[in-house]
Amino acid sequence: MKTYLLRLSADQSETKGNWRTLPETPNATGNEGETTQLHAEVESVPVFAAGHQLSGALTGARRCIGSQQLQPDGTFAYVPCRTARIITKGKQCFPCSRADESRLIHHTPREKASPALIKYLDVPHFLYVAGFADGTWKVGTSRLARGENRWVEQGAVVAIRVAQYEDGWQVRAAEDATSTNLDFTQAVRSSRKAKSFLPQTSLSELVLAACEKATEVKNFLQGQAPDEEMDLFAPLALGKQSSPETNPELAGVTPEPLNQDSAGAKLFAETLKNQAAKTNGRATANQGTEWDWIIENQLGWANPAAQPWLDKPLTALPKGTLNYPQTWQIEAVFGPTAILRSLDDEHGEGQVVDLGALISQEWELNLPASH
Ligand SMILES: [Zn+2]
Repeated sequence: MKTYLLRLSADQSETKGNWRTLPETPNATGNEGETTQLHAEVESVPVFAAGHQLSGALTGARRCIGSQQLQPDGTFAYVPCRTARIITKGKQCFPCSRADESRLIHHTPREKASPALIKYLDVPHFLYVAGFADGTWKVGTSRLARGENRWVEQGAVVAIRVAQYEDGWQVRAAEDATSTNLDFTQAVRSSRKAKSFLPQTSLSELVLAACEKATEVKNFLQGQAPDEEMDLFAPLALGKQSSPETNPELAGVTPEPLNQDSAGAKLFAETLKNQAAKTNGRATANQGTEWDWIIENQLGWANPAAQPWLDKPLTALPKGTLNYPQTWQIEAVFGPTAILRSLDDEHGEGQVVDLGALISQEWELNLPASH
């Protein structure tokens, strides 16, 4: 039977998975380092995305997921592991882990960077705060051109763009300073993201908390900006409250809207406006100003795929139960989290699955007859 590896990617406002066909191994329980002569290839099989079905089983083997490599034009390309090597721990074999250049983004000083990495980082970046369903907050960075894709692939529930920088070196320094000085992490594990959906919450709570977190970071960065640290912190735009007095370069600069008409931008703005109407009179003057700043500059985003599941009773899918003969309806996928429902139990609760834990696992799929 053919075996497959799941690969996730952000596609507009959706997370989608593709099944990659794996080479057959003469000895599937072989040791790490053992290679086969066959190459992994992409085959057209049903995608792992909302609306599709899943019927399959984990074989118990783990395979290398490949690496991210920089191209001469300064973009990253996904490179599958040449032999989809069997591994015993982690998600990559040693050669792929060594070849993976995505980690360089955060640690390489400019003088040691390759021309491709310099190209990658020498474009406008933004700093954002993103929240997950249980109120875990992270600070992160993205190239401006990637827009909301970064939040989709991470499975964030809400996010606010806080500042925009001329390049990736400056935004990286700002991110480090923020996570060192304030209570933010730079990475959230996929298992935590999946678990965060179990206690029910509401989008308006998360949107309000996002505004507070964004304001906290904005105030911190503005306090860091003056004179002597100008090289490190030269945000192009911090929203309307940035003033030419604190940073002359800010005069006349406003943030470029990322996502004016996206469903996520609208969802965030509407939730915030409804909440503002509800608390009118009780909200402090400061809150009001911050909310206006966020709405007017279209800085906020809420994940439309995740929203319907925030206030629904969900349970964690017990280990081992994904395996056939059950067939699962894929109800939603946001970043590394999926919500499945058994087709044998249509009225049952949605089951939350941490795809991060499955990403390097080999699958056998029960494909529909047409394949
Ligand atoms: Zn590999």
